Amino acid sequence: YETQPIDLNELILSSSSLISRTKKSMNVRAVLHPFPLVVKADKRQIEQVLLNLYVNAFHAMPDGGELLLQTANVMLGENVCKNNQIVPGNYAHISIADTGIGMDDETKKKIFDPFFTTKEMGRGTGLGLSSAFGIIKNHKGMISVSSSINHGSTFNIYLPLSEEEA
Ligand code: ADP
Ligand code: MG
Repeated sequence: YETQPIDLNELILSSSSLISRTKKSMNVRAVLHPFPLVVKADKRQIEQVLLNLYVNAFHAMPDGGELLLQTANVMLGENVCKNNQIVPGNYAHISIADTGIGMDDETKKKIFDPFFTTKEMGRGTGLGLSSAFGIIKNHKGMISVSSSINHGSTFNIYLPLSEEEA
């Protein structure tokens, strides 16, 4: 676990360029915050989280669709922070939204559990999201999902902003 100041806008662009070339059926669009969003993070680990979410999005859109990647600067207040055991303050928000199959409420409750998968034998390990959860928690951030059946899913990641320059 090695942290350095990284700009999430750049990381979103570089990580998403890795996938858009291989998956032509999926339209990848990025709407990024106009200023750097610098977080102190382990770049490899955050990249791993993003790639896991992109791959899940592909699987959720077998007939193609759109992946919308957004970054923003948000202030998280006392209430939301207390519920998620993080410190109130300014956070970088990364939203990863697909137009795929979505998931029901029962599934949604379990997706961050280790080994939970709805994929066929041999197709999913069920470890992507539990590892993502652990990595983001280690970074003193949080990850959540909102989803609706047949409309798609949006994963939200919040990471504390750093004062340092990337
Ligand atoms: P795996 O991909 O190996 O199944 P994950 O931990 O990455 O394991 O995901 C767990 C489960 O969460 C998936 O099997 C699927 O049911 C659900 N899921 C994750 N991402 C999405 C998504 N973008 N759309 C719909 N369902 C999803
Ligand atoms: Mg996965």
